Order: sequence, then structure tokens, then C-alpha cells
Amino acid sequence: NNQIKVAIVGYGNLGRGVELSISKNPDMSLVAVFSRRDPQSVTTINTPVYSINNILEFKDKIDVLILCGGSKDDLPIQGPQFAEHFNVVDSYDNHAEIPQYFASVDKVASKNKKVGMISIGWDPGMFSINRLFGEALLPDGDTYTFWGKGLSQGHSDAIRRVEGVKAGVQYTIPSTSAIEKVRSGSRPTLTTKEKHARECFVVLKDGADAKKVENEIKTMPNYFEPYDTTVNFISQEEFDKNHNTMPHGGFVIRSGISSTGVNQVIEYSLKLDSNPEFTASVLVAYARATYRLAQKGDFGAKTAFDVAPNLLSPKTSLELITEIL
Ligand code: NAP
Repeated sequence: NNQIKVAIVGYGNLGRGVELSISKNPDMSLVAVFSRRDPQSVTTINTPVYSINNILEFKDKIDVLILCGGSKDDLPIQGPQFAEHFNVVDSYDNHAEIPQYFASVDKVASKNKKVGMISIGWDPGMFSINRLFGEALLPDGDTYTFWGKGLSQGHSDAIRRVEGVKAGVQYTIPSTSAIEKVRSGSRPTLTTKEKHARECFVVLKDGADAKKVENEIKTMPNYFEPYDTTVNFISQEEFDKNHNTMPHGGFVIRSGISSTGVNQVIEYSLKLDSNPEFTASVLVAYARATYRLAQKGDFGAKTAFDVAPNLLSPKTSLELITEIL
């Protein structure tokens, strides 16, 4: 069987999304899910679960590991740890720390002749590629990224790790008037605060200090500190009723001119019913590319910028040229 053999590390929303996505990609098979929890306590759709402590027994049975841990606390450890023994793909999304994370994965992956594909998904990921295209195609221009309205997993993850928080979600809300200004080609100067707000809904643990939790969230560097952040405290009942889906989306817009007075506007937009399922679909396509780079001996850390589009597709080059070029 010449399917690409994939395994998942960490079974949360993203892990489950990867399991679903593999079933839509006949050239790939899912060998196993590995978890830090007791495997008996982790229920997948139909994939066997093993303890992460046994992962090295599978070294020769896996082509690519998809790391589905959280960006804040899991991936900084798991990325370099597993790139020593496996080709890995992850969705590390703490933008400000990506250069350091890249270096930490690159060091291990290069030394051990593995591919470490980092920061894959939609942002970072598909949005990053569209920012690059925009800049390269319209050098005289400005790039604008808007997120939402949607639930940000990375930011919700960060809230849930604050002491005293029982449950929490964060929605990013784009400003419609700001989007319209950008689409008009007027190239406004907009600060992050003018483009979006961050709205948090938090359920406190018994006895937790609301003021302290609110302050800790609002002052969290990179995640919340640069934004207009509001924190709403709600009951578990309200949380369960109104905050149980994970939609997201956004826009990358490049507005520029090719000569004086000639406006050119490029727009890429996503409307996602499920952020984790879409992110997982991107991870799986990049797992295919990761396998192919490893076959070619092109080792070390990579990002979406390093992957030629044809490596993502299950089709041959001739099929691609004939059907969609
Ligand atoms: P999550 O559901 O919180 O899962 C993260 C990890 O927590 C899992 O790998 C799992 O590891 C553990 N876990 C999951 N459910 C658990 C439970 N019930 N009890 C205890 N532990 C549990 O996070 P996620 O929604 O999958 O998101 C993962 C990361 O994806 C986010 O941190 C974000 O940075 C990233 N992301 C990136 C993009 C992008 O566009 N690049 C988009 C979306 C998300 P174990 O199985 O080992 O316990």
C-alpha cells in the first residue's frame, strides 16, 4: 500500500478535524492517535489511541506526524521534541514568536534529516501566502488582514490557561466600515485597534477573583494587550447554550496601484463553519507536501512560503497542467 501514513499527536478540536479530513484524502491513511492522557479516556471516531509514551515504537510505521497541540504551551515543547524522530506538521499560531519557534524546530529537524512544517492553517497559513502574493504582485500597495467575526482558538486557549478560569471563548470582530474603506482603494491607515475588537466570555471557577482574571487577560502580551479587549463573565449554563460552535473567517486584501490612478484590489476571503475542521484540512494537504519534501531530502523547518503549490495536490503535474492551469 503506497498511501502516506499519518498519525495525530494530541486529540482536541484540531485532532478530531484531522481524523475527519484524512477520510476525504484517499492517498493517505491514519495510523494512530497519540495522547498525553490515558488512551482509554480518549474517544476518537474510529482511530486507535495510544499513549504518547509509546510513540517511538511507531517510528517506522509513520511518514508524517500532525501535531495538534495548543500553540501556547504544547507546541513549543512538542515541535522540537517530535521533529527529532518524525516529519512533523503543526499549526503554531503565536505570530510574534514564530521566528524563535522556527529556529527551535529547524535545529532539530535539520540535524536529524526530518521536515518540520510549522505554522500551517489559515492564519498563519493561507492568509500568509495571500499576503505574500499581494506584496509581490502589487509592490506599490498596502495589505490589510481582517479576522472574524469568529472564535479564535489560540486566544480562547490562552484564556482557559489563566488561573481561575473554568471556561472561556474569545470572538474577534472586524469593523465593517474599515473593510469598506479598504475595498474602495483609498488605502487608509488603520491601527489593529481600529480594525478589530476582542470580546471574551468567561466562566469563573468557584472563588476566583474576577478583577484579577480580567486584568490578566487584558494585559497578556501579543494575545490581548495590543487590542481593545472586553471581558464578560457569564454562567456555565449561558456558556453551554450560546458559545458551543467554532465559526471563523476573515479577509486578506491588497490594495495597490500598477501606475498612477490605476487601482488594483485583490481579496481573499474565508467563511468557515468550523475553524478547526478547516485548519485540519489545510494541515492534511501540507502533510502530503511534507512527505514529498522528505522524499526529496529537503529537510529542516519549513513554512507555507516554502511549499510549491503542486506538492499539496494528490494530482500529477500533468493532470494539474491539463485540468486547472
Ligand atoms: P484543544 O482542543 O484545546 O486541544 C489541544 C490539546 O489539548 C490536544 O492536543 C489534547 O492533547 C489536549 N486536550 C484536548 N481535549 C482535552 C480534554 N478534554 N482534556 C484534556 N486535554 C485535552 O485545541 P484545538 O482547538 O485543537 O487547537 C489547537 C491549536 O491549533 C490552537 O492552540 C491554535 O494555536 C492552533 N490553530 C491554528 C490555526 C491556524 O490557522 N494556524 C487555526 C486554528 C487553530 P492530548 O491528547 O495530548 O491530551
